[in-house]
Amino acid sequence: MLTYREVLNINEQYAIDNEKEDSGVKLLLLHFSNLSSTDLLLSLDKEIPEKVYNDFLYGVDRYIAKNIPVQHIIGYEYFYGHKFIVNGDVLIPRFETEELVANVLMYYDEIFNSEPVDVVDVGTGSGCLAITLDLEEKQMKVTATDISEAALKVAKENNDILEANVSFLQGDMLQPLQGKKFDILVSNPPYIPDHEYVENLVIDNEPSVALFGGEDGLDFYRIIIRGASQILKDRYLIAFEHAYNKSKDIKKIIKKHLKDVEIIQKKDLQGKDRMTFIIKR
Ligand code: GLN
Repeated sequence: MLTYREVLNINEQYAIDNEKEDSGVKLLLLHFSNLSSTDLLLSLDKEIPEKVYNDFLYGVDRYIAKNIPVQHIIGYEYFYGHKFIVNGDVLIPRFETEELVANVLMYYDEIFNSEPVDVVDVGTGSGCLAITLDLEEKQMKVTATDISEAALKVAKENNDILEANVSFLQGDMLQPLQGKKFDILVSNPPYIPDHEYVENLVIDNEPSVALFGGEDGLDFYRIIIRGASQILKDRYLIAFEHAYNKSKDIKKIIKKHLKDVEIIQKKDLQGKDRMTFIIKR
């Protein structure tokens, strides 16, 4: 039998040879061996049990030869330190989106001075934004919407497992929110332009409804910005994640529809223009 080290080396090389992230192989080994990173390090020169090896090889085959995301093979992704269940009905949470959460928490402190607030996450997918905000800030009463029943099923499951308290509404964009008023709106809507190239790993495995945002990718920002005043209180914060090359266009849409607001645009940790915050004081 091979050692963990040999198994890891051989399969990381297999990933690299096939233009896949070798980090995916390590995640699969951690998952199937049920070892923590530290325990795996300490076990590198031990023999890998046959059952673990077979399960792991099956996972590696699905990841590398069948082009399936690691998160779908193991069934989860970590977001802001919380474990979220994912499947083909939701977008896999991306680490850039954690920065949106961190910024919303920061602006909440600045604008709302620890007061209770009503928060809505439009297009919640796995629920990662809504549930994390609910868990991180007890003063936030969080509602989340999605057009996809299948996505809401995943989000509700995450809400239960993580013992959060988010309310979910099914419907298109702001439609299920009519008649309600919020202090904070967050959204990471689908933002890929309809005809833009998308890599196979994404297009073959993640739902189109979570990816594409119309001809220029901005349809959902227009809908939210145009309808914002109907569902937001007098003082509010809107927080968007968006494509790296759309900051200017989003600013234009905001200026056209919202008066007397502060617009703050930020880069993500990779240096890409990624977030826009709209503050009305
Ligand atoms: N809000 C979810 C996320 O940030 C889903 C986003 C989406 O489906 N476009 O991951």
